Amino acid sequence: MEGIATNLAEVRRRMEVACRRAGREPGDVELVAVSKTFPVSDIAEAVKAGQQVFGESRLQEAELKIDELPSSLCWHFIGGVQRNKVRKILQKFGVIHAIDSLRLAEYVNGIACELGHAAEVFLQVNVGGEASKGGFEPAVLRQEIGKLCALEHLRIHGLMCIPPAVPDAESARRWFVSLRELRDELEAISGRQFPQLSMGMSGDYEVAIEEGATHVRVGSLIFGHRSQRVEGELG
Ligand SMILES: *Cc1c(COP(=O)(O)O)cnc(C)c1O
Repeated sequence: MEGIATNLAEVRRRMEVACRRAGREPGDVELVAVSKTFPVSDIAEAVKAGQQVFGESRLQEAELKIDELPSSLCWHFIGGVQRNKVRKILQKFGVIHAIDSLRLAEYVNGIACELGHAAEVFLQVNVGGEASKGGFEPAVLRQEIGKLCALEHLRIHGLMCIPPAVPDAESARRWFVSLRELRDELEAISGRQFPQLSMGMSGDYEVAIEEGATHVRVGSLIFGHRSQRVEGELG
């Protein structure tokens, strides 16, 4: 594995190439550097190389790192959200990627109200209908989008997915397309805009960009292989 700065530069370069291929502006896609399991020193190296946006999936682990690093960084919570951690997550993180039920959304809305600010969120969709994964079933989301939009302290940026494991990046394309099409449907149903799509990881972020990703969540290509298995991580 090359150094973190080199890895970051290569991911950014490939993101730009994918954007150009898709006729998109490179500035339209945010790289969320997924630093779960990696130490503060690695994150500091990425910061030195210009990275400002990081993703973590476990609160306890992330809190310690967030407190040690510059407060100018933007942290995205990409893991499954437990109710008893919502308040802390809202205090420490700028964006939550995995709101996966109306009940959780209502709960987050209530805590955000108490804290006096809006929660910035993505709705996670279980695009592959897998029993092992979190996320709204598309049919349920079509039914509940009205209620979700009515939650005044929730700013729904868009949709997020973790597609089923596939043998190659190209095979993930259909899942990214399905997330984008569901987004279009939800906009038509609700009359609201959901401009952002959080999709694509180390193995398939270029395909995700071609299909409209606005946020790619890339970990191992930047920081190296993770030895620990992480709660909320798949495969
Ligand atoms: C760990 C994780 C990632 C990053 O995965 P890589 O394959 O290392 O890029 C992205 N999204 C979520 C939700 C994750 O848990």
